[in-house]
Amino acid sequence: MARLLTIHAHPDDEASKGAPTCGRYVSEGHEAVLVCATGGEEGDIQNPAMDRPEIKENMAAVRADELAASVEAIGFSDCIMLGYRDSGMEADPANANPECFWQADLDEATERFVAIIRRVRPHILMTYGDDQQGYRHPDHLRVHDISYLAWQRAGDPAWYPEAGEPWVPQKLYYSTWSRARLAAHHAKFQELGKDSPYNDRWFERPDQDHRINAKVDVTGFYGVRRAALLAHATQVDPNEKFWFGLDDADAEAAYPYEDFILAESRVGRVPAGGEDLEHDLFHDVVEAGLEPVAEDPAASARAIATVQTDHQNAADKAAEAAARAAELAEAARASAERMSDAAATAAARASDNTVETAAGDAA
Ligand SMILES: [Zn+2]
Repeated sequence: MARLLTIHAHPDDEASKGAPTCGRYVSEGHEAVLVCATGGEEGDIQNPAMDRPEIKENMAAVRADELAASVEAIGFSDCIMLGYRDSGMEADPANANPECFWQADLDEATERFVAIIRRVRPHILMTYGDDQQGYRHPDHLRVHDISYLAWQRAGDPAWYPEAGEPWVPQKLYYSTWSRARLAAHHAKFQELGKDSPYNDRWFERPDQDHRINAKVDVTGFYGVRRAALLAHATQVDPNEKFWFGLDDADAEAAYPYEDFILAESRVGRVPAGGEDLEHDLFHDVVEAGLEPVAEDPAASARAIATVQTDHQNAADKAAEAAARAAELAEAARASAERMSDAAATAAARASDNTVETAAGDAA
């Protein structure tokens, strides 16, 4: 039995991304755990049938219940909340709330996620990609940032010693909505004489298909996605063509896969994509786990610089980390000097002793 941990930004993201894959692995006896970064308090009601005052007033509690139902439908063994409020889209006033995920300190948010990884001990991590041009929600960008840092830090005993025993996840995946699936479903709508929800705008959105290097067969598991989506009754309109315009059987016949980007692996090769694909996310996984590894501080500095290039505080964070790396290097140099001083003193003392001893012998 291997373990998969997936992190999402909002309740309902776990239903729209990766649900069939998680459902399949759970059915095969593996374990899947969900981490949800925010409570989804800022979400609007997207289903007209649920647009009622008593629901609006209790949005946080309603969304928690919906999430619990979705978790059950997918088969996650646990759902762990990271504990932030959700942020709105770029420039939304909700982003000024100090409790929102976007305002969270990057190192502190990463520590929360590292503590969960060390407790759950997953073999693979599934998160959002580094390129989110298609959908730039601040919470989604942030999920990627903390995931990448946690991937680097969870197995490093120097990071967050209070956050539990180091644990080394073995493979890091980015979920993706492929253009290939969209095109296949669009063609299926047309073939069946149905109105397709995919207009030109959908085909102009940037895609990541050239980076896809893992394709999981989810035949028989589109139903998991449907059940999970429907569990989010305030967020998903059951009459929405975009989600439910094709029967599961038709959708599956058109495109029976979910696509991922294997970003990094500590246990095997990373396929190039195109024809070079892997078909099992647990391929190469060592179930016993890996030994914790100590990361060098300069690498951590580079990691921060990489994930934060176009986000708030990027320069500050990188400079801070680089300064920390420089301090550590300076400390190492100083202690090396102290050691060589001590060695010189000891050698001098030893030779003095020899001279004294020799003098004593002569006397
Ligand atoms: Zn979301």
